[in-house]
Amino acid sequence: MDISSLQKCIGDQQAYRLRQIKRALYVDLVEDWQYVTTLPKNLRELLARSCPLDIHADVQISGDNFTVKALMHLIDGKRIETVLMRHEDGRRTVCVSSQVGCPLGCTFCATGRGGFSRNLTIDEIVEQVLFWNRYLKPSAEKVTNVVFMGMGEPLLNYSNVLSAIRTLNDPDGFGIGARRISISTSGIAPKIRKLANELLQVNLALSLHAPNDCIRSQLMPINKQFPLKQVMSAVSDYVTKTNRQVMFEYLMIRGVNDADEQARELAVLVDHPLYFINLIPYNPTGAYQPSSSATIRRFKQILLRAGRHVTQRYGFGQDIAAACGQLAAKNNGSPRRTS
Ligand code: SAH
Ligand code: SF4
Repeated sequence: MDISSLQKCIGDQQAYRLRQIKRALYVDLVEDWQYVTTLPKNLRELLARSCPLDIHADVQISGDNFTVKALMHLIDGKRIETVLMRHEDGRRTVCVSSQVGCPLGCTFCATGRGGFSRNLTIDEIVEQVLFWNRYLKPSAEKVTNVVFMGMGEPLLNYSNVLSAIRTLNDPDGFGIGARRISISTSGIAPKIRKLANELLQVNLALSLHAPNDCIRSQLMPINKQFPLKQVMSAVSDYVTKTNRQVMFEYLMIRGVNDADEQARELAVLVDHPLYFINLIPYNPTGAYQPSSSATIRRFKQILLRAGRHVTQRYGFGQDIAAACGQLAAKNNGSPRRTS
């Protein structure tokens, strides 16, 4: 798909044409221009030639049917993953990728180990949501929430991510409000500050994973460039400017960051009424092992006793390795299915 060529195709046509086209694309979710009968035939033909609407992806459904992963094939042959999560409360959350691979090389992350190819374009980000809306159409459902927790570091593809968010927000298009969009970052401090100034109501999640610089630098090399003091100060600035809650993601990795002492250190570090900690069972992808459920319970209790707000993400679609960054790593074969 090439949505940006749309603008070129319609050139100086009236604004209502653009609205009709957006409606066809994002609301009616057409997959072939010939069905957009509100448009004149010659424009449909032009659009079919210059802006084809097909999206190629392999879909993998989890046994519980709540999680669906897709490996999307990009125009240059690269692949990215995107995940749909169907929550019991009716939310339909899509996890999107922002880059092909990731340059930051976190030692626990399959995406990081795979290296970095390139940033995704605005279209390639938006298309992931479009793909799932098409997928949900037969059951009269649509994507309600978007999280930037797929492959890549969204704040290193800042302008495309922000433009994609504005497209997702567009009331003539998907109409997904900023409050239902979350950006997860490894902690690019200056970009967190920049985001705070955008006056967007998006949710911020910080991949913390360690209560001190020593452990965090082992897990996340970016911590050497932006150590905790800088990152926490940028997050604090974000909260002051936006008054939004911030989620601190904390992977529970056996023998690395899950000791009682580390829970106590974490409680001191993450101390603000608008901060909450999300404990995530580590999905093993190589070097590390996940903490036991007993350890996670104990860790959580220490945080709760210290008065911290703690949530716990349970293994969502564990059978298809739902933690981000793992599908593309596992699927190197040729496409099985195209939709
Ligand atoms: N680069 C951004 C967003 C993508 S990663 C970031 O790091 O925040 C999204 C989340 O998946 C991060 O919190 C990351 O730490 C987590 N993650 C990576 N590998 C994982 C694994 N094997 N098990 C569980 N979570 C993982
Ligand atoms: Fe990149 Fe995030 Fe994976 Fe780290 S955890 S390598 S920042 S995708």
